[in-house]
Amino acid sequence: MLSMIDALKNWFLQEKRDFPWRNNPTPYEVWISEVMLQQTQASVVVGYFHRWMKKFPTLSALARASQDEVMKAWEGLGYYSRARNLHAAAQLMQGKVPTERTQLEQLPGFGPYTVGAVLSFAHHQKAAAVDANVKRVISRLYASEEDITGKTESLLPEKQPWVVMEALIELGALVCQKKPRCHECPLQKECRAFKQGITDLFPSKKKMAPITKLERRVAVIGSRGAYLVRQEEVGKVMGGLFLFPYVEKKDDWDFPLEMKFITHLPPIEHGFTRYRAILFPEVWQAKNQQEVEGHRWVSKLEIKDLPFASGHRQILQKVLHASTAH
Ligand code: SF4
Repeated sequence: MLSMIDALKNWFLQEKRDFPWRNNPTPYEVWISEVMLQQTQASVVVGYFHRWMKKFPTLSALARASQDEVMKAWEGLGYYSRARNLHAAAQLMQGKVPTERTQLEQLPGFGPYTVGAVLSFAHHQKAAAVDANVKRVISRLYASEEDITGKTESLLPEKQPWVVMEALIELGALVCQKKPRCHECPLQKECRAFKQGITDLFPSKKKMAPITKLERRVAVIGSRGAYLVRQEEVGKVMGGLFLFPYVEKKDDWDFPLEMKFITHLPPIEHGFTRYRAILFPEVWQAKNQQEVEGHRWVSKLEIKDLPFASGHRQILQKVLHASTAH
């Protein structure tokens, strides 16, 4: 009779999705893809992954890149601290993704999942990589949420442990989903939650952090083919990203510029981390490119290559589109 692990492996070999990072990847490719996969669904990551590898084909290329280039390549994925950490870690790695757990744990951005994933998928070691998918599978399999990492490790065989690790992740993504498809599952015979009819109790629901609503006026101030922007300080929510000047909706502008109001643009709604913001863009024309503390004037040509915060990027696209349409 097939063991549960053999059944899982067979299922994986037949059903696994084909992704570029599953095709004989380098440790560097494993690391980048795993960090991207923590941001969004795999089908969206494919495009980002290809573009990233074209721009930074090796660990050394990433280490040598400027922070703006790295942020630009990450633009749209969100949680920009991950991009900054990738860059900083690449500079510390000196051309090689470490193979020791203790070394990996000291690098910026390497939490327990990333460490486990790199050890398992990049270096083929016996290591658990517990993401939300694995948590769902294991908690249901044992009908318990205790020591998920330990339980996962104990399932990994000596031979090709990384295949079983990846199979558990894939099973969570494709079969043991929020609404599980137990009739398709290779673990069904052993699954306690299935046998007891309590799959919906796992994982237990956590209270969501409250969402903060923001309403902001955003000024697109143009002058002789350039716009006024500023770069958010590292350590803040949108650290390292470029923004147009903004104030809270109830506040007034306070700029030492001679400027004329041109028009309103339609409001833009977007969410980031635990915020939901509505941005009210206003287009202004400044008489000249006077210096404004903490800001800089950037030409239309240059501005396209800067990493922008996502709501502000949408505004930029509207403005650039309108200016080329004229
Ligand atoms: Fe998940 Fe159902 Fe499989 Fe159990 S039997 S691991 S609940 S899909």
